[in-house]
Amino acid sequence: MSELPCPLCSADTPLDGGEEAGDSIICAFCFSPLKVTVKDDGSKTLIDNS
Ligand SMILES: [Zn+2]
Repeated sequence: MSELPCPLCSADTPLDGGEEAGDSIICAFCFSPLKVTVKDDGSKTLIDNS
């Protein structure tokens, strides 16, 4: 279980930990479509997928 900040509302969006790069999720707070990306260092980040 981890959390990443939503790029739109800055709320920490919970992840189940099994997300892969390119997975689509919905922000639990603003309900915006987001996409998981993985940076070169292996850390995950969320981008706007609308
Ligand atoms: Zn959000």
